[in-house]
Amino acid sequence: MKEMKSSTAVTAHIRNLKKCRRCAKMIPPVVAGEPVASKVLLIGQAPGSREGSFGKPFAWSAGKTLFKWFKTIGLDEEEVRNRIYFAAVCRCFPGKEKGHDRVPDAQEIQNCSRWLRAEFSLLKPHLVIPVGKLAIGQLLEFDKLEDVIGKSFSIQFLKTRTDIIPLPHPSGASTWHRREPGRKLLAKALQLMVKHPALQAIINKGSTKNRQ
Ligand code: SF4
Repeated sequence: MKEMKSSTAVTAHIRNLKKCRRCAKMIPPVVAGEPVASKVLLIGQAPGSREGSFGKPFAWSAGKTLFKWFKTIGLDEEEVRNRIYFAAVCRCFPGKEKGHDRVPDAQEIQNCSRWLRAEFSLLKPHLVIPVGKLAIGQLLEFDKLEDVIGKSFSIQFLKTRTDIIPLPHPSGASTWHRREPGRKLLAKALQLMVKHPALQAIINKGSTKNRQ
């Protein structure tokens, strides 16, 4: 009953989020994931130019790499999308700047943070996976990726105590995760994730379902 209530609240949240047009420079549509009432929350940076037409986050090349990482710990793309809540620092495509996806500005990040705050109070996540520097920086102070990837942090965000396990950005433009020490640290982060009780619950949910 409680689960049904929270999934209705998450569905209503996403419906409202999709109507947001607060940032003048952002290019709609708002990109949101599945309305899953999950205890695991993944935070991306912002959608790229393709995600809007697919209607889901991580729908293009960065997503292929991200889901490959999840596959190594026993979850395929469908399972990840249906069992982990996908949030982002900004939910609309920022457009291009000098040939690259524009990094959202401080005001846009501030505007969109209200959606993230609402998600924290709705879901009260036990595990948060920020993907890439911009997302990690919303939760942790850090200098280099080497200081945070491959580690777990326990923080209080709003009224929720949660564990944070950061991942590097899987974008093709970044080579950090393909060379050392990035490769080793990424593998360490994935191992920390798979041992976390909230992710274990998600994996076990799948194996129970497969046995039925
Ligand atoms: S980026 Fe966020 S706050 Fe800005 S218009 Fe899109 S959904 Fe709204």
